[in-house]
Amino acid sequence: MRWTLLAAGWLALMPMRSHAETRSEQLDRLVRAYPDALSGHDDDTITWRDGTVMPVDDGIADKSFDQMLRNASILDQIRLPYPVGASAPPALNVDPGRFRNEAFFKKMYGDCNAGEVKRNLVTIIWLPRSWGKPVQVTRVNGVAERLKQVSAEIDALEPAVRAAAFPIAGVLSCRAVADTGRTSMHGYAAAIDLNLKFSDYWLWAGKSKAKTIAYKNRMPQQIVDTFERHGFIWGGKWYHYDTMHFEYRPELFGK
Ligand SMILES: [Zn+2]
Repeated sequence: MRWTLLAAGWLALMPMRSHAETRSEQLDRLVRAYPDALSGHDDDTITWRDGTVMPVDDGIADKSFDQMLRNASILDQIRLPYPVGASAPPALNVDPGRFRNEAFFKKMYGDCNAGEVKRNLVTIIWLPRSWGKPVQVTRVNGVAERLKQVSAEIDALEPAVRAAAFPIAGVLSCRAVADTGRTSMHGYAAAIDLNLKFSDYWLWAGKSKAKTIAYKNRMPQQIVDTFERHGFIWGGKWYHYDTMHFEYRPELFGK
């Protein structure tokens, strides 16, 4: 009780937090995040720079969590706020970034089953000072350049911290996500899995009969902070956690 009162008092001293984002503000954020690809939006559609128009809503109200995972609209994709920086373990079914509109990302990065993602792959050297192996990533949206910067910054961290970032477990993988049947950001070469030895994954822990999933994480916060500074979200901020996983999702940052 005392803590609650203290917290309430502290909140009252904070500058007024912005109101919940309107639909139009959410779409502004999306368009701002992908300036090379998107040119604008109205209430119902986004417009791509090549003139393609896509609906933002599928008209289905009250979707369940599973329906959102399998069939997210563009609005569903940007609905859950992503908490930047150190944060508490996620609440039940709070998976910011796991709702992805497949048509949106296929248009953005290509369809890996049709060989379209390959055309945009470039090679970067991951952690030149600590590991120095070539990795193929997409150049779309400057992902390759951003990962180069992430790599340089992680390379400058102390050895015990950067050890969590190599050897990597992979970038491009055309397989569907185990529990959703949908393409993950690995299908677009816009995600990277770090060192398996420092990783925890909800499905490994989810075999028990427990009703809730116990959160686990061994990924250093400095690595998470580095990726977030460059527009990558972390799978450790999901209730269905995947702590080696980072993906480029600038639309989830409130910049
Ligand atoms: Zn991954």
